[in-house]
Amino acid sequence: MTAHQHGGFHMICDDQPKLDIRKLWLQGFKSLRIDGVTISITTTQCHYGGERRWFMCPDCGRRCAVLYKPDYRCRLCRNGRYWVERFSPLDRRLLRSKRLREKLGQYRPDLSMPLPLKPPRMHWRTYRKLCGEIRALEAQILEEIWGEDLPTLAELRRVDLETAN
Ligand SMILES: [Zn+2]
Repeated sequence: MTAHQHGGFHMICDDQPKLDIRKLWLQGFKSLRIDGVTISITTTQCHYGGERRWFMCPDCGRRCAVLYKPDYRCRLCRNGRYWVERFSPLDRRLLRSKRLREKLGQYRPDLSMPLPLKPPRMHWRTYRKLCGEIRALEAQILEEIWGEDLPTLAELRRVDLETAN
C-alpha cells in the first residue's frame, strides 16, 4: 500500500476527533482557546472576493483548516513528519546511535551497553563500519553530555546498576 493510493497522510487522521474551521462559526475572532490550547486564527483573501479562515497550528505555525485533538496540532505535526527536525542535535545523535545499534540486532539499546556481536548474516565489513560509526557518534554524545568530566564506560555501567536497584 503506497501513501499516494490512499491519500497519504490524510488517511491516518481521518477517523480521529478533529476541529474543522469550516464547520465553526468564528467570524471576527482572532484566536480561540480550547482544552487549554490557544489557537490563532488568520484569514486569506479569495480570488473571487470574500475571505477564507484558517487555524494556525500551535506547534508549527502552518495555516490549516483542520486541527486534531487532543492537542490541536495540524496533520503534519500529528503524523510526525517533521518530528526529527524538532529534535536538538544531541537528540538526533542519540537517536541515530540507537538506530545503528538496532541494526546490529541490539534490543532496546542504550549507550552503556557493550556493542553486540556480529549478527550471523551480516558481512564483517558492514559490521566493522557500523561499529566504527557508533563509537565515533557515541564518543561525541558522551563528550557533549559530560564535557570535561567524561566518565569511563565502567563508571557508566556502575551508575546504571545503581539506578536499577
Ligand atoms: Zn503543525
